[in-house]
Amino acid sequence: MASTNELYGELLSRWRKATLLASCSSQLSWDEQTYLPPGGAEHRAEQLGLLAGMVHELLTSPRLGELIGELQQRGDLGEPDDPRRANLREARRRYDRATKLPTRLVEEISRVTSLAQHNWVEARKNSHFETFRPWLERIVALKREEAAALGHGDGVPYDALLDDYEPGAKTADVARVFAGLRKDLVPLVQAIRNSSTRPNVSILSRRYPKDAQGTFARAAAAAIGFRFDEGRLDESAHPFCTGIGPGDCRLTTRYDERHFPGAFFGVLHEAGHGIYEQGLDRTAYGTPIGDAASLGVHESQSRMWENFVGRSRAFWTHFYPQAQSTFPEALDGVGKDDFYGAINDVRPSFIRVEADEVTYNLHIMIRFELEQRLIAGDLPPADVPAVWNAAYAEVLGITPPNDAQGCLQDIHWSGGLLGYFPTYALGNMYAAQLFEAARRSLGDLDALFAKGEFTPLRGWLNANVHRFGRQFVPSRLIERITGAPLSHRPLVAQLKAKFEPIYRL
Ligand code: ZN
Repeated sequence: MASTNELYGELLSRWRKATLLASCSSQLSWDEQTYLPPGGAEHRAEQLGLLAGMVHELLTSPRLGELIGELQQRGDLGEPDDPRRANLREARRRYDRATKLPTRLVEEISRVTSLAQHNWVEARKNSHFETFRPWLERIVALKREEAAALGHGDGVPYDALLDDYEPGAKTADVARVFAGLRKDLVPLVQAIRNSSTRPNVSILSRRYPKDAQGTFARAAAAAIGFRFDEGRLDESAHPFCTGIGPGDCRLTTRYDERHFPGAFFGVLHEAGHGIYEQGLDRTAYGTPIGDAASLGVHESQSRMWENFVGRSRAFWTHFYPQAQSTFPEALDGVGKDDFYGAINDVRPSFIRVEADEVTYNLHIMIRFELEQRLIAGDLPPADVPAVWNAAYAEVLGITPPNDAQGCLQDIHWSGGLLGYFPTYALGNMYAAQLFEAARRSLGDLDALFAKGEFTPLRGWLNANVHRFGRQFVPSRLIERITGAPLSHRPLVAQLKAKFEPIYRL
C-alpha cells in the first residue's frame, strides 16, 4: 500500500501540471489584451477554450478525486495549521467545484467570453449597448447554468459565484457589511459635497507627456517594491496585473496626457497586486495553496498601496519634488498642498476606476445589487442600462450621459466575471484593517513614507499576508493578523481622519 507521503506527492505533482497549463492560458490572455492583432481573436478564443478544457480535465480526473478522498480518510497530514492540511482542504474545495461543472460548459464559457470581450470593446467605443446585449444575455445564461450546477445551500445562486473569488463568503454577509459601510459613507459624502472647500483639480488635466508619465510611474512602482527584473509594465484598454508564474508578473496601464491620476495611481494599484504575487512563497508554486488567498485580499494590497500610501501627504513629501521636475509644464508654481488636495478630490462620478476612495464603494454596491438580480433571473439583461442609470441617480445623484460612461464601462461582465465586483469593496475594508495592524506593529508609517522608506510596510505584508498564499481562508487570515473579524469601521475611521481635515469638516 502506498504511504501517505507518496499519495500526497502524487497529488501535488498532478496539481502542479494543471497549474503550469493554466499559466499558459494566463500568458495567452495577457497577449490577447496587449499585443494580439484583432484578426487573431477567433483563433485565440479556440486556443483558450482548448486549454481551459485541458486544465479542467486534469483537475477533475477520477485519480485526483481518489487521492483527495484517501488522504482525507487517513487524516494523518499533521496539525490543523499544517500547510499540507491546508493543501488538502483547498484541493477538496477546488475539486468539488470543478467536478460539478461539465467540460462542455467550461469550454463554452471560455469561448463565449473570449469573443464577447472583443464585442464589448467595440460596444464601449461606440457607446452602443445593443452590440453587447446578445453577448451579455448569453453570459448571464451560462453563469446561471454554472451556479445551478455548483449548487447553493441557502437557495442563493449568487453565493455559488461569489465563493469562486472569495472562498467561504456569503452574499448575505457581504450585504450586511456593505450596509454598515453605506450607512457611514453616505453622510460623509454629503458633508464633503456641502463643504465650501473645493480642490483645484484642473492641475491634473494640464499636459503630462506620456513618456514622462511612464518613467515616473515606473520609478514609483519600483520604490514601493515592485521588482522589474521579475515583472513588466505594458499598455491595455483595461489595466490589470497577472502573475504568470514565479519570476514573471505582468502589469498594464493606459495613459491619458490630460489626466495624470489615471495612469499613475493605476500603476501603483497594479504594482500593489504585483508585490503580492512576487511575495508568494516560491516553493509553494503549483500547490493548491500556492496562490493568493482571494480576490478581496488581493485587492486589499492594491488599494493599500494606491490609496493609503500613494494618496497620502507623506508619500508626496517624498515624491513631489521629483514630480515637479518631471512635469515642469504642469506643476511649476503649484504647491504640494494644492496637488495633495487635487489628488484627493471627492465627488460623485461615472467611472468606477477613476472614482475617489470614498465614493468608490458606492459604485461597487450598485454592481453588486445588479448582479444579484441578473443571476436570480429578476432582471433581463436588456434592462441593464435603464436600471444602471436609475441606481446612479439614486445613490450618487448623477445620471450617466451614455452607456460607455454607464453600464459598458467595465470589462468584467464580458469576461464572465460575475461575483467579482464585491471583492473590490471587501478589499478596501481588509486593507484598512490590515493597515491599522501594520501601524500598531511598525509605528509611525507616515514618517517612514516621508523619507521614501516603503520597505518596512512591504516586509510586514510579505511576512503576514503574502507568504501564506491560500493557507488560510480570508476571514481567518484577517482575524489571525488583526485580532478581530472583518469590520467596516477601520475604513470609515481612516477616511474620516483623512478627509475631514482636507474638507475642513
Ligand atoms: Zn485591483
